[in-house]
Amino acid sequence: MSTSPEPAGRTGRNLVFVVLDSLRYDSWVAARPANLARLGEAEKRWSYATWTAPSHLNLMMGLLPHTSPPEVYASEYYKQDFLRYSERLGIEGIEFKRLLPSLFLPTYLKHALGYSTHAMVSMPVLNEHTVINRDFDSYELMPAHNDMAAMLSKLHFSDERPSFYLLNVGETHYPYALPDEDPETWPRISGVHGVFKRLDEREQDQPHPAEPREFFDQAKLRELRDRQINAVTYLDGVFARLFNLLPDNTWVVVTSDHGELFGEDRYFGHGPIAHEKVLEVPFVEGMVP
Ligand SMILES: [Zn+2]
Repeated sequence: MSTSPEPAGRTGRNLVFVVLDSLRYDSWVAARPANLARLGEAEKRWSYATWTAPSHLNLMMGLLPHTSPPEVYASEYYKQDFLRYSERLGIEGIEFKRLLPSLFLPTYLKHALGYSTHAMVSMPVLNEHTVINRDFDSYELMPAHNDMAAMLSKLHFSDERPSFYLLNVGETHYPYALPDEDPETWPRISGVHGVFKRLDEREQDQPHPAEPREFFDQAKLRELRDRQINAVTYLDGVFARLFNLLPDNTWVVVTSDHGELFGEDRYFGHGPIAHEKVLEVPFVEGMVP
C-alpha cells in the first residue's frame, strides 16, 4: 500500500453508478434481468434513506446501500466500505482521510484522483441547482423523467483521464412508464388519490375516524408493481447497450436509492414511510461484462 498521492494523468478505472430510482429488491428478482445478471447476482441491501434526495446525497458521499452488519460502528463501516474503492477504481492505496473534509465522492474523484465527473439525472428533485451538483464537470436533468436510453449517446470517455458517471434512471419510478408509452395511458392511481381524499374527509367530516375503510385498490396496486417489474425487463435491454459501449476498464454499480411500497401495511410509494420494504434495494457491482 502506497501512501503517496496518486500520480496525475490516466490512473484508475471509469466508474459508473446507475441508480434505478425507487426499484425494490424483489421487483428486480421477479424481472430476472439476464443482461444485468452478467454483472453478478444482485444482493439485497438496505438504503440509508427512504427518499431520493437524502439517499443520493448518501450515495455521493461514497456510501453505497449497506449490508446491515451487526456489531459494527457506523464510522468503521464507512471507512471499511470506502476502502473498497481501491478495487472499484483499480487504484492501490485509497485512503479514507483523503475523502476528508468534503466527504463527497465527486470532489474526491475530481480533485484527488483527476477524474472527469458527470451526472445525468431523471428526477427533478435532483436538478442541477441542488446540493448534489457539486464538483461535477457536467450535470444534466434529463428532458424526460423516464428515458435511460437517451443517456447513452451522451456518455463520453477519454483516454486522458478516467470518468465518473452518476446516472439516475426514472423508468422504475412511479408511474413506471416506458419512454415510448403515451402519458395519456399512464395509470391513474385512483385508489391512492382516493386515500388522500378520504383522509381530508376524515379530518373534516368523519364522525368515526377509526371506522375501517378500503384504502387501496388492490388490483391497481398489483398492476403498479407489475409495471415496475416490466420496467426492469425493458431496462435490461438498455443495459445490454450500455455494457456494449462502456470501455473495458469500467467498474459498474447498479442499485437503487430506496424501495417502494405497493400497498403493504397500507403504504404506497416511498418517502415518509418507515417500513422494511422501502429500504430494500438491489445491489450489484463489477467490471463491465
Ligand atoms: Zn428516488
